[in-house]
Amino acid sequence: MKIPEQSFLDRRSNGVPVSEYLDRQLLIQFYHPQFGPDILLKKILVVGIGGNGSHLALALTRMGFAEVALVDKDTVSPSNLTRQVLYTKSDVGRLKTDAAADFLRGQSICSEIKVHTMDVLVERQRFLNLVRQADFVFSVVDQLNVTFFVTAACLKAMKPMCSGGTFVVGGFGTTAVMQRPEGQPCLACNLLSKEPPADWIRFYSTFSDDRPEETGELDLSKVAAYDGVIKLPTRDPSTYITASTGSNLMIALMINWMMGNYVNERLIFNLLNFYFDKDLVALNPHCPLCSHENNGE
Ligand SMILES: [Zn+2]
Repeated sequence: MKIPEQSFLDRRSNGVPVSEYLDRQLLIQFYHPQFGPDILLKKILVVGIGGNGSHLALALTRMGFAEVALVDKDTVSPSNLTRQVLYTKSDVGRLKTDAAADFLRGQSICSEIKVHTMDVLVERQRFLNLVRQADFVFSVVDQLNVTFFVTAACLKAMKPMCSGGTFVVGGFGTTAVMQRPEGQPCLACNLLSKEPPADWIRFYSTFSDDRPEETGELDLSKVAAYDGVIKLPTRDPSTYITASTGSNLMIALMINWMMGNYVNERLIFNLLNFYFDKDLVALNPHCPLCSHENNGE
């Protein structure tokens, strides 16, 4: 068994040592010695606190990760409440970050909850700095263009990330996929069904600390015209069970990674007929984010 990180486990919450709250979870070390308390010292960034993100945030907080940081720009709407577990009717109209912070601070055993209300495509440098401060990033936004941007940020900062969400079987299918800090294959290798226009790539992979002038000159009509993102669209709304199941698959990928087991497969689970599948995340030599051909351009 790993030697516990005493300063962390001895920390007290409501007068009770953290080790007492986490007692059952720490027993897992007897079966899996790599699942030590040091895993819980990680800082986790969740980008998007909708269906999948709210389930992720709650699970990460209850598991006791040292820091759970959340990014979103939206407000809570009535249609969110069937699956977004951080909000109630009284939160409708509030910023999701504010409502999530209130809820999660009440749920926290030992986690520091941080929230950042922002549009990541607008405040690019600020977002990149948040990625740099994190040990692991979840990208669970409902626009794959933004997922592409978060993927680019994680590659730039060399941070591991995981993404996933609902796919087209009417809200009952979910996917989860992981990207290592070094990328290759990156998420974009399987995200793009055809080569996007150069402007598109530049727009969704440019940060304000490099080539800002090119972002400013972007012809947005060309960006909007590109329809080649995706093999598994994540535009369908989640149900409670896919948001919950998908978020747990993503956390499992993260924990496997932290325990030294990188899973280079996209997990696919359809809850209507209990179809489970995996496909290899393969390096796409034409990938605009991580391939050798495009690096250095
Ligand atoms: Zn790639």
